[in-house]
Amino acid sequence: MDQQERARRASAARRAAGDLATRGIADVAVTWVDTSGVTRVKAVPLARLEHAAAWGIGMSPVFDAFLIDDSIASGRFAGGPVGDLRLHPDLGRLAVLSACPGWAWAPADRYDQEGEPHPLDARSLAAREVARLAASGLSVKAAFEVEWAVSIGDGDDFVPACAGPAYGMIRLTERAGYLRDVVGALSAAGVAVEQIHPEYAAGQYEVSVAPEDPVGAADTFVLVRETIRAVSQNHGLRATFSPKVLADGVGNGAHIHLSLWRDGDNLMAGGEGRFGLTAGGEGFAAGILARLPGLLAVGAPSVASYLRLVPSHWAGAYACWGLENREAALRFVTGAAGSRSQAANLEVKCFDAAANPYLALAALLAAGAAGLAEDGTLPEPVEVDPASLEGVPPLPSSLGAAVEAFETDAVLKEVLGEGLVDTIAVVRRGEIALFDGMAPEEIAARTRWRH
Ligand code: GLU
Ligand code: MG
Repeated sequence: MDQQERARRASAARRAAGDLATRGIADVAVTWVDTSGVTRVKAVPLARLEHAAAWGIGMSPVFDAFLIDDSIASGRFAGGPVGDLRLHPDLGRLAVLSACPGWAWAPADRYDQEGEPHPLDARSLAAREVARLAASGLSVKAAFEVEWAVSIGDGDDFVPACAGPAYGMIRLTERAGYLRDVVGALSAAGVAVEQIHPEYAAGQYEVSVAPEDPVGAADTFVLVRETIRAVSQNHGLRATFSPKVLADGVGNGAHIHLSLWRDGDNLMAGGEGRFGLTAGGEGFAAGILARLPGLLAVGAPSVASYLRLVPSHWAGAYACWGLENREAALRFVTGAAGSRSQAANLEVKCFDAAANPYLALAALLAAGAAGLAEDGTLPEPVEVDPASLEGVPPLPSSLGAAVEAFETDAVLKEVLGEGLVDTIAVVRRGEIALFDGMAPEEIAARTRWRH
């Protein structure tokens, strides 16, 4: 980052601070997401935003090696007490945290003291993968589905905040004021809410938001979760986005919808392939499907993720794809006739909210790009519950197995780079050791309030 860029950011921050002041904002939370998927923060008073934008906010690089319980793994590329990074808020994504009066928020890119992007920074990596596709004339639209479960009070035990049936109107009525405030706070923060509904599991709800560019989608995922968390707290409730809130039953997914575009055309529709896929759309999907076992180390990164990722829970535990198949890891969605050129997309169902969303999207884009480069083709789609068929490969059933697949995936290794690959593996193994020998109930309980 040169002096000119610093000056440009300073003047943008001056303008933004003036605007925020008129809206009663006093402080700005600047977040980034660590390797374990935990959102970390430093905050500045509004008067300091200009300095933060130009020079960043100091933060230790040790957090790359933090585990879910705030203990620290020690890797070759992260984990020591020495060094410092600069968090540079992206002012293009400034939003008001409407459920936290007086607060605004911006996501950070992490730079080193020389002004170079930090090699382990996931948001910068996602932006690089977006740029790499753009160099081939391609862009991706993405959106995270946000599932969460709501508990009454502020205790650590999970006490479902609604009692009505899954997808039931009773659940909406029971918490109508809360859900209205969730939608209101999200809209006030600039999030384009498309839908909200009661989900299947105890106390569970879901929000869908409009697709946007991948980095923006990951930012939105962070903003949506923190907004829901704050609204919940304001209502005397507690929100959990954990992959498995209770050891039994259905978990929280964080499905990622992806469509690939060239010159304004959605390559997931209007083609000669199955369900209208173009060759490019199919190659992209095939690249992801082929690499799902390794991708899980990024997208289902917690020990608790594998309590969720089981057959017959709509979590997508099989390495297959299918049209509207909710037990396939890749659910292909065409949308209704007449809307397909806009609506068709690929849903990655096996990921959850323990994932660092920037890392998850960077890895998916890398896998998709590799599939395009090798003219990948998809196998036969699966049209029934894959558990009812012989021979559909299950995805890794443990974090250890996913990490092994990750470490042998040449594409992910190349794109993520040695430092990130090593750090991810060290953190995952640290968490495997942390939860070693624990019963599912205890794993769920210790993971429940971390994301
Ligand atoms: N809650 C399910 C999961 O763990 C997903 C349900 C759905 O298909 O929306 O992913
Ligand atoms: Mg859902």
